Amino acid sequence: MPELPEVETTLRGITPKVQGQTISAIVVRNPSLRWPVPDSVQQACGALVADCRRRAKYLLIDLENAPGLLIHLGMTGSLRVCDAGDEPRKHDHVDIVLDSGKCVRFNDPRRFGVFTTWDHPAEDHPLLCNLGPEPLSDKFTGKYLWNRSRGRKGAVKNFIMDGKIVVGVGNIYASEALFMAGIHPSRAAGRISAIRYEALCKAIRDVLERAIRSGGTTLQDFHDTDGNPGYFAQELLVYDREGKPCFRCETPLRRKVIGQRSSYYCPSCQR
Ligand code: ZN
Repeated sequence: MPELPEVETTLRGITPKVQGQTISAIVVRNPSLRWPVPDSVQQACGALVADCRRRAKYLLIDLENAPGLLIHLGMTGSLRVCDAGDEPRKHDHVDIVLDSGKCVRFNDPRRFGVFTTWDHPAEDHPLLCNLGPEPLSDKFTGKYLWNRSRGRKGAVKNFIMDGKIVVGVGNIYASEALFMAGIHPSRAAGRISAIRYEALCKAIRDVLERAIRSGGTTLQDFHDTDGNPGYFAQELLVYDREGKPCFRCETPLRRKVIGQRSSYYCPSCQR
């Protein structure tokens, strides 16, 4: 599933191709995504792209004098930049055709993605209005996590994966950050000290920034028609390493299901 780093990589890949361009057509081959692609997307035709942004895992394309476009990659979605005349592949459902002759193509085999419009301001959109802060923003601090966690008995892993607390911390990154901070994933969120939340906040930022940087290495692929959105291969410390030795203490790592998701941790390093 595309996580925040892949969405950020996608944003950085498409932005230079799209910003300042005029949209000449929106081609919808299959409107049956998570919700039907609305006819309102056609209002983008003739509009200039003012900006491309990301909020959580949503991509927002700001248009001049037209409703913006909102895209979510769902489970299996991706965007790639290609020539508008290129033969579409299987699962290429929507094209944003640009005056430059290029197009941004939305591919999604499982069709859980979203392609829709929003009216200003985007932050009021029902999909966006209840989201917590961005993990790489100044609003996301150890103090913030500590404040929000008081009185919470649930597992800290579920707490940091709750989009109302902080957005974009997926299952892999939650496991990795908790290992880096030395915190056991099932520890009650409300029973973790402020100083340990400082370490956890730093670990979440570090793991996401590292993932974005490795995603960035595939950005050059956006130039060609085979461009992929940059699913990065990363050195993971604990994720999917059940039974393998901890990199720090060599204790075999464990897997535990927390909130229906597999969590990986070191029983010795994480308390
Ligand atoms: Zn260990």
